[in-house]
Amino acid sequence: MTNQATLVIIKPDGLKKSLTGNILSRLSETKLKIIGAKIVKVNEHLAQQHYQHLRDKPFYPELIKYITGKLHGENRVMALIYFGKDAITKVRQISGATNPEEADPVSVRGAYGRILTTGLYENVVHASSDPSEAQREIKLWFGPEEITVDLYPVKVATLRSFKRKVWK
Ligand code: UDP
Ligand code: MG
Repeated sequence: MTNQATLVIIKPDGLKKSLTGNILSRLSETKLKIIGAKIVKVNEHLAQQHYQHLRDKPFYPELIKYITGKLHGENRVMALIYFGKDAITKVRQISGATNPEEADPVSVRGAYGRILTTGLYENVVHASSDPSEAQREIKLWFGPEEITVDLYPVKVATLRSFKRKVWK
């Protein structure tokens, strides 16, 4: 099996509960390399794109509130890319099953997740589930210059009237 990249998001409940260090320690058991990492303020647009395939599910509105931090008064998440042999499976294994009650108790979701009274699985982490999802998600959350490995083809674009904030 060749090297794979996978996206991990420590969701707002993970940050709110100060679990970041703990989760990173657990993921370091995989011996995979972190090739990108940042704290992100998740807006509605990013949340909708990330979960676009779930937009018809009954829990979708609650899921968007969750990932944008509205359930926790915490609009930060930590986004990471792990890279190496069998990365997707290794990270999913440590994350645990989607439903925290069914997740292995020693997994991150089994240890720290819970089910809300609304039925939403508040499960602390996101992990890509297959190579095409990983590619889509990594391209959504990271630009090529934020990653230390050339994962996908790039092009050079000259952006003229592109507005962005810079330091005064
Ligand atoms: N989710 C939920 N109820 C469900 C299925 C999913 O609340 O029945 C939430 C949960 O937070 C999950 C996210 O929606 O992590 C994305 O769902 P997916 O099926 O992609 O599960 P994952 O890949 O995160 O294990
Ligand atoms: Mg998924």
